[in-house]
Amino acid sequence: MQTLAAAPAAPAVDLGEPGPIGRELLDHQSRTESNARTYPRRLPVAIGEASGSYITDVDGRRYIDFLTGAGVLALGHNHPDLITAVQGQLTKLTHGLDMPTPVREEFKRRQLGMLPEPMRGSMKMHFCGPTGADGVEAAIKLCKKATGRGTVVAFQGSYHGSTHAAMSMTSETAPKTGLTNLLPGVHFAPYGYCHRCPLSLTPDTCVTNCAEFLANTLNDTHGGIQKPAAIIMELVQGEGGSIPAPVPFVRRIAELAKSLDIPLIVDEVQTGCGRTGTWFSFEQYGIEPDVIVASKGLSGMGLPVSVIMYNERLDVWTPGSHIGTFRGNNLAFASANAFLDVLARDNVLAQVRERSAQLMAGLRQIQIDTTLVSDVRGRGLMLGMEMSGRGTASASEVASRFQREALRRGLIVEIGGREDCVVRLLPALNVPAETVDEAVAIMRDAARAVQDDLTAVA
Ligand code: PMP
Repeated sequence: MQTLAAAPAAPAVDLGEPGPIGRELLDHQSRTESNARTYPRRLPVAIGEASGSYITDVDGRRYIDFLTGAGVLALGHNHPDLITAVQGQLTKLTHGLDMPTPVREEFKRRQLGMLPEPMRGSMKMHFCGPTGADGVEAAIKLCKKATGRGTVVAFQGSYHGSTHAAMSMTSETAPKTGLTNLLPGVHFAPYGYCHRCPLSLTPDTCVTNCAEFLANTLNDTHGGIQKPAAIIMELVQGEGGSIPAPVPFVRRIAELAKSLDIPLIVDEVQTGCGRTGTWFSFEQYGIEPDVIVASKGLSGMGLPVSVIMYNERLDVWTPGSHIGTFRGNNLAFASANAFLDVLARDNVLAQVRERSAQLMAGLRQIQIDTTLVSDVRGRGLMLGMEMSGRGTASASEVASRFQREALRRGLIVEIGGREDCVVRLLPALNVPAETVDEAVAIMRDAARAVQDDLTAVA
């Protein structure tokens, strides 16, 4: 413990404050844009251009990007193969509503082909509006209509988006303040967050009680919840703090859903498209969801596209049941098709697993060397470091200071989870090993600086 070398490493150049051009843009933004804006408050970086895992700000300073547009830029910024594919499509067709086009049909065929073999023949695809939340809305509507039921079970710690229904199924209470009459009939069940067990159990006393709690509730005639239209879950909670659900928990929930004939929606908006080391995270749990929501990483380069894939027995929709103008982004389809080419050619999923082990080892070392980290976790390149309070500084203050110290040294990381105390890492899936080393070195220095600072205050 606390074996980090003594002197705090001051950054050679302090990148925590914007340069003169960046300052002007950030000031202009804060005067003219909604108060709901988020990222530039903690990460005051005005982006000039970007390439791969690096961003250059408008003042010409370079940052490593471990946020990647909230996990959207699966192959990093401006991957050359994706640019070529998009440029080729740009002069042919950009927007096509839901009319078939060669790239759209190829997209559908190949995306359905990415599903595990037993599911391929029975799954259909629906193109939603362009965001993850649009996909979540579509999934819920589909399940309601297919079952004729009205309630939904979501999980504590969940994030499903910011639209009305998606926010209703999101567990954080703060954004709901002042919003009355959200979607009724949403019930939150405990999630397998073992580091802070919602039932205050420890490994020796736990028999996946969080899943049993829901099983008992739904099987109990006095459980208080009508049989739901769907159970919706993330298998690694992203915004909730990079929390991978334990395998027995997920299997028990899937079993329960099946036994009660409740469609299971797996929200793969953040976990999907290779992020956790398999194309979809559910593959690692040995379950077959009834509905999958995918969006963020699909195009590989941040072009908006969102789909649900669902078992054909749920296809009760009639023409026009769920529509929207932006369901035909042919640029995104072209890019997504090229992404799958690169995925296979460069064995990107194997790269994710290798870089994951490398990064995890670096984070674990920081945990050993400091008193700042209470948990290191995640799957693939969706990792988190939960910080702990130190002295009078809360866990949330420690995380915030760490984020700032990392930024000062040129590394962009996100924080999230309960009380914003989890440092979240979402590098590009093809992040080079040297960049991971560079990022780990920065995080080591950042941790050292935070620790020394707090020691000096104590
Ligand atoms: N579901 C999950 C699991 C997410 O992480 C997000 C976005 N962070 C969403 C849904 C919503 O996606 P969007 O912001 O594109 O609406």
